[in-house]
Amino acid sequence: MHISLVGVLGERMAARLRVRLYSALIHQDMAFFDISKSSELVARVATDVQEFKHTFKQCVTQGLRAMTEVTGSVLHLLHLSPSLTLALGISMPALYLIGTFYGAYLRRLSRHAKEVESTSMGTAGEGLGNVRTVKAYAAEDREVELFQAAAERAAKTNTKLAFHIGLFRGVTSTSIGSMILIVLYYGGAQVAMGHMEPGELMSYLMATQAAQRSLASLGVLVGQYIKAKAAAQRVFEFIHRTPLIPTRGGQTLPSLRGEIEFSKVAFAYPARADQVVLNNFNLAVPAGTVVALCGSSGSGKTTVVSLLERFYDPRFGKVLLDGVNIRDLDPTWLREQIGYIAQQPALFSSSIRENIRYGRPDATDEEVEEAAKLANAHEFISHFPSGYETVVGERGTALSGGQRQRIAIAAAILKNPRVLILDEATSALDNQSERLVQEALDRLMKGRTVLVIAHRLTTIQNADLIVLMGKPQGKILEMGTHAQLMARRGAYYKLHHVGADI
Ligand code: ADP
Ligand code: MG
Repeated sequence: MHISLVGVLGERMAARLRVRLYSALIHQDMAFFDISKSSELVARVATDVQEFKHTFKQCVTQGLRAMTEVTGSVLHLLHLSPSLTLALGISMPALYLIGTFYGAYLRRLSRHAKEVESTSMGTAGEGLGNVRTVKAYAAEDREVELFQAAAERAAKTNTKLAFHIGLFRGVTSTSIGSMILIVLYYGGAQVAMGHMEPGELMSYLMATQAAQRSLASLGVLVGQYIKAKAAAQRVFEFIHRTPLIPTRGGQTLPSLRGEIEFSKVAFAYPARADQVVLNNFNLAVPAGTVVALCGSSGSGKTTVVSLLERFYDPRFGKVLLDGVNIRDLDPTWLREQIGYIAQQPALFSSSIRENIRYGRPDATDEEVEEAAKLANAHEFISHFPSGYETVVGERGTALSGGQRQRIAIAAAILKNPRVLILDEATSALDNQSERLVQEALDRLMKGRTVLVIAHRLTTIQNADLIVLMGKPQGKILEMGTHAQLMARRGAYYKLHHVGADI
């Protein structure tokens, strides 16, 4: 009965802990995810909590019993012969010291083992997650080797840990064994002096054996406990980590025009602090205009829009929305005002309808379909046998790039943001789908402030302002309308002259 009770309790605790951990992880800032492998994080949610739960159950069911037994037998011993028990007690502190120091070492070792183990999980997760690339390079065996190396490292640390836990138990039982010697020696003396009956010594010895057994099982549990403590420590380390940028808190604006300004912004990614990506970057985007960012790959275009979404905070300078520093705005509210379409939109493996509705969870079915029509997506969706209920394959592999793009556009139309970011939204498409996507984008852009990042010059010629970024990284080389930049006969003109792609 008590075992099922503890079982139920353990499961509930584990489930709650998992949710808390997941919530803590997903609320972290982008810089955190730059330095953590997502598959490693998943491993923590799965295995660390598991371990914690397992030990909790064991400690409660067996630990309670072992402890009562120990207390009971000590009381019994005291009752039989106080002086003998005291003599035993004097030898206890030594035991205790050994236990503490060795225990601390074991805890460190166990923590390390956990880390190595989750790195190996991360390796496996990465291989399976990027299976397309792995296959394209026929690199299955290379990945297996990588995993094998990681798994072996994990096995080695775990073996070391198991060895030391065993040794720890050995040391404990040897010291417990020496208790019996003490009893025999000291007790024998007592009997010889006539302070004790031989029969009493016998029953005392029996009682020490009982105490020894219960102490030994307590020792096993302590080993378990140490392992679980390491797991729990890692879990709580994350649960208590405060994100650099919270998801909530700050003011919201009653109405938004959508005017953006970057003022003297300097920035380097926290994960690579010595590489300055933007330095004294200044750009004003009036409400309702379209500003195009172009420039070579790595020149910092995506970084500019990440700062606007406040995925990161600039080192110096500020980003303003309607004249308010976005640091003072509620990040959730801020992101609700911004629509973001990337080159390869990631879809969730749920129905197309759910994916479009991600833009606004309370949208009705009619609104979803209306948005799909505007996004040039309704037609191809209706051609699927299950229509809007079609489940998108993992990472959207069952859909073409253009189709995925139009689903993302439909979601953005539902979201209806004041500010829109298009990050190379059409650069991975063939001409036919580019036309359909471009048409959908043109509808989406209407009446909003738009930051468009583009490779192809054709997509940005109509922008109100074109910003050419380049070397040194993050520097604005030229700025103006297409006509102005062409007349200038500078870098933009040259690019335009040589070819279609920047
Ligand atoms: P673009 O979008 O113009 O191709 P990015 O803004 O993505 O360029 O990148 C600008 C520079 O910042 C590049 O040198 C890139 O390597 C670096 N970078 C981009 N993202 C990160 C990141 N998450 N962590 C560290 N460095 C990054
Ligand atoms: Mg980019």
